[in-house]
Amino acid sequence: MNNLDKMEAILQRIEAYPRIMLFRHVRPDGDCVGATKGLQRILRLSFPEKEILLTDGQQSDFLAFLGPDDEPVADELYAQALGIVIDTGNQARISNPKYALCRELIKIDHHIDREPYGDLSWVEEERSSACEMIAAFYGAFQDRLRIDAWAATCLYTGMVTDSGRFKFSGVTGDTLRCAALLLDQGVDTQTLYAHLYLKEFDSLRFRAYLYEHIERTENGVAHLYVSRGMQERFGLTFEAASACVSCMDSIRGCLCWIAFIETPGGEESIRVRLRSRFMPISDLAERYRGGGHACASGATVYDEEEVRALLAEADAMVRDYKQTHTDWM
Ligand code: AMP
Repeated sequence: MNNLDKMEAILQRIEAYPRIMLFRHVRPDGDCVGATKGLQRILRLSFPEKEILLTDGQQSDFLAFLGPDDEPVADELYAQALGIVIDTGNQARISNPKYALCRELIKIDHHIDREPYGDLSWVEEERSSACEMIAAFYGAFQDRLRIDAWAATCLYTGMVTDSGRFKFSGVTGDTLRCAALLLDQGVDTQTLYAHLYLKEFDSLRFRAYLYEHIERTENGVAHLYVSRGMQERFGLTFEAASACVSCMDSIRGCLCWIAFIETPGGEESIRVRLRSRFMPISDLAERYRGGGHACASGATVYDEEEVRALLAEADAMVRDYKQTHTDWM
């Protein structure tokens, strides 16, 4: 089945069900929240007689402007529903475990498809965001679906955040055509960028601390470690602490950058956020209980020894890459 056939099959399933439940991944980000809320809005506008529900226990402070999710519902409601999971490569990362109760399940995703699941699956690894896919879905069926400025704003949020403001390598002509379709609905980009990118003055002190503490391995892996103590000292949420990975994204010669963030509470794990340019790093993430995209992945480690081992592997990868390629910067 080609992608258009998959989209058509998905729309037919949507048309067939009176109730549709939407799901996304744990540690929500702009893409999975924007995609689920954007699709929810499109489906509510297009099929006012249907129940389109999005219930999820996990919220994100910086995305609160997109509004709350629906209240939890009884398990019986799931059993008759069509479930659509968006932006989630593997089932273990689906945030609301009740997805498993749905009568039928659809996967819509843009991560590397290591773990196909669902009765129907539409995965395009080359897409810059899941929101781009939902915008393309709307674009393909404009005669059967309705959109408005709010749905477009939700989707544009994920397109902007997951593509690094249209900067990452996954951005294509199709990305911008989808973005154009959304902007045509009347997205207020000034307000959206203010919600996404304004910082509290106090958070700049944490940034200053980070810039002072970035380290580099011999061959060019930049890295930062954010302990629980540091998170307390700067009064940071885990989400704000995790954002530190972006401070390292433009250091000449550092083809890979990695942030280690100690998780709060009793859980003694360390979240790893891996990023790279030119050189893919998702294989490395997969070796440390993670995965994601070629140049943006996540993983989990449990102690300092694993931190050192992961950094040593990343350093060797950068060394080999630099020895065998010429056009990196
Ligand atoms: P993060 O650094 O957590 O934003 O992750 C970067 C990308 O990798 C995102 O698209 C995540 O959805 C994905 N990712 C993060 N952690 C994992 C994991 N443990 N397994 C699979 N994919 C992940």
